[in-house]
Amino acid sequence: KSEVKEYDLVYDDQIKFIKDEIMAGDGVAKIEADRKSLPIFPYRESLIKAVEDHQVVVIVGETGSGKTTQIPQYMWEAGFGGKTQKIGCTQPRRVAAMSVASRVAEEAGVKLGHEVGYTIRFEDCTNDKTRVKYMTDGMLLREFLGEPDLSSYAVMMVDEAHERTLHTDVLFGLVKDIARFRPEIKLLISSATLDAEKFSEYFDFAPIFRIPGRRFPVDILYTQQPEADYVDATVVTVLQIHLTQPEGDILVFCTGQEEIESCEELLKTRIHEMEKKPPELIIAPIYASLPSDMQAKIFEDTPKGSRKVVLATNIAETSLTIDGIKYVIDPGFCKQKSYNPRTGMESLVVTPTSQASALQRAGRAGRTSAGKCFRLYTAWSFQNELDPNTVPEIQRTNLGNVVLMLKSLGINDLMHFDFMDPPPAETLLRALEQLYALGALNDRGELTKLGRKMAEFPLDPMLSKTLCASDKYKVSDEVMTICCMLSCGNTVFYRPKDKLQLADHAHKSFHIGNVGDHIALLNVYNSWRDADFSVTWCYENFVQQRTMKTARDIREQLEKLLERVEIEPSSNTNDLDGIKKCITSGFFYHTAKLQKNGSYRTVKNPQTVAIHPSSGLAKELPRWVVYFELVYTSKEYMRQVIEIKPEWLVEIAPHYYKRKEIEGETIKTGKAAAGKKSDVVLA
Ligand code: ADP
Ligand code: MG
Repeated sequence: KSEVKEYDLVYDDQIKFIKDEIMAGDGVAKIEADRKSLPIFPYRESLIKAVEDHQVVVIVGETGSGKTTQIPQYMWEAGFGGKTQKIGCTQPRRVAAMSVASRVAEEAGVKLGHEVGYTIRFEDCTNDKTRVKYMTDGMLLREFLGEPDLSSYAVMMVDEAHERTLHTDVLFGLVKDIARFRPEIKLLISSATLDAEKFSEYFDFAPIFRIPGRRFPVDILYTQQPEADYVDATVVTVLQIHLTQPEGDILVFCTGQEEIESCEELLKTRIHEMEKKPPELIIAPIYASLPSDMQAKIFEDTPKGSRKVVLATNIAETSLTIDGIKYVIDPGFCKQKSYNPRTGMESLVVTPTSQASALQRAGRAGRTSAGKCFRLYTAWSFQNELDPNTVPEIQRTNLGNVVLMLKSLGINDLMHFDFMDPPPAETLLRALEQLYALGALNDRGELTKLGRKMAEFPLDPMLSKTLCASDKYKVSDEVMTICCMLSCGNTVFYRPKDKLQLADHAHKSFHIGNVGDHIALLNVYNSWRDADFSVTWCYENFVQQRTMKTARDIREQLEKLLERVEIEPSSNTNDLDGIKKCITSGFFYHTAKLQKNGSYRTVKNPQTVAIHPSSGLAKELPRWVVYFELVYTSKEYMRQVIEIKPEWLVEIAPHYYKRKEIEGETIKTGKAAAGKKSDVVLA
């Protein structure tokens, strides 16, 4: 039996000579020098040799060693792909794909989108000259639909493999298969953590190439007591460091945009309240939906005498490296998808990180000099409460999308697909069942005509189904807008603290008639469109202009896709029932019914849920609702809800809802809500 081999490294000693170049440096020379000072640089030649010698190479190196920015360039410089083929590199996160591509374009002295470019969902920044292409792992999956053998690529690097995102895990299976019938394609699997053996074994014992890291010691400090409010604890720690510690920037790991924003606000307030003005503290947030010009701020040099604090999501754990970080604050949490195949419910939950994550986070403090990591939890809790490793996403997510994609790639036997860690059988079955219920698969598990259409859309199957249904109800224009707005995340409305009332008042006008959140989003978009997409309009209505622009971009893309699947453009803004029926066609899984105590219960696989306070229907409490998603904060909340009529369920999803079932439910409530006349009339 073969064994895992370590690839022999040849270390050509070039580092000393680089330092002089930095001294010399104008712009270009500085970039050259920067490139040469990366830990990976001395191994450039041996890496190229390794790739020439082997079809698959597993590359391991610490975050910041230069894997993502350098390896694709090395391959390009070494002539892989000749004049026509590309070097591809996948990233789990869109921000990383964009930011890294822009850095590499700069290093290579080319315009972004020309020789070096990127593709993320709804945005293609490449042209026919593009040789080095960064993309999200999800985009590469979609490329398989059009090019199942990836013939336009000479090298494919699956980067950040250790993150084990759902898409990366599926890619492993697909690229492994391609490698068999395309012996000339090169596969690089790169990872920031040391457990590379698993990747190596999976890829038929591919050699492992380790890039020795330079790492400085990091002191790890724990709190003595568990902290009840970690956001507050974070802010206090930032200020403590700022006031008492020698210079060096701070990196804080937050769970998401909202938390980053509250940290930022709290920090500003506390500093403002200080009697003696402290040295300048530059606050630089980074999260996925932050506009790219603001993302660049995290890479800017910190002026002497001031200090930068980067408030980041998990993205700074391994995908992005920020130089100059000396202090890391790790509250010990991250936002994670979790999925319950029994109930079919997926939610984003703030969960404790794993020990492996905590180690990665701490490592960020010791990249350029010795550093400190402040963990806002106890040493006991690290030892006893954190899981050793993060569970791969494929084992805790809904697989609907991926199954639909694999089916359209002609992979029918999913139970025997070569997964590195197979998803729970129950989750796979659940996905198949859901796609069947949506009409994407027939009873033999084969893709239907509708399924083929749905697979064209880079959206969740439920949204794709909603879009496809709009053809029947002749409201494609409205439904497309709603799908775009929903795809933009929860950043449409904003409520500045000092103008809460004004903002709420403005937002209310979109909800007139208690039309439900989806329709309110439609109203927002249409009013903006009627105002000629004006900036002032956004400002006056407390609507994020950035989000609206994104929605418009997405809309343009979807419009093309609708044409491709031959859905005729149609519009009828007044047919609210028709629009809601489309949404129900996609989301009948997400139906909940009001209980006598004012909470809701999901109809299938009963679970108690509530309408999110931000919803326009939060106070209305309609009897039957369909929701877009569940979020778990203090309890399980439905975000974005519309009211529906229960008989629609039987009309739209007769295979899923039986008339009796819905009647039965009604009778029960009828009794419970004594005296209240049931508004459900069923023949
Ligand atoms: P790895 O993939 O091994 O973690 P990278 O190739 O991402 O390493 O990073 C190498 C270096 O490039 C880091 O020092 C980082 O600071 C720098 N870098 C990466 N992206 C950017 C960017 N957008 N702007 C400036 N510097 C960057
Ligand atoms: Mg990287």
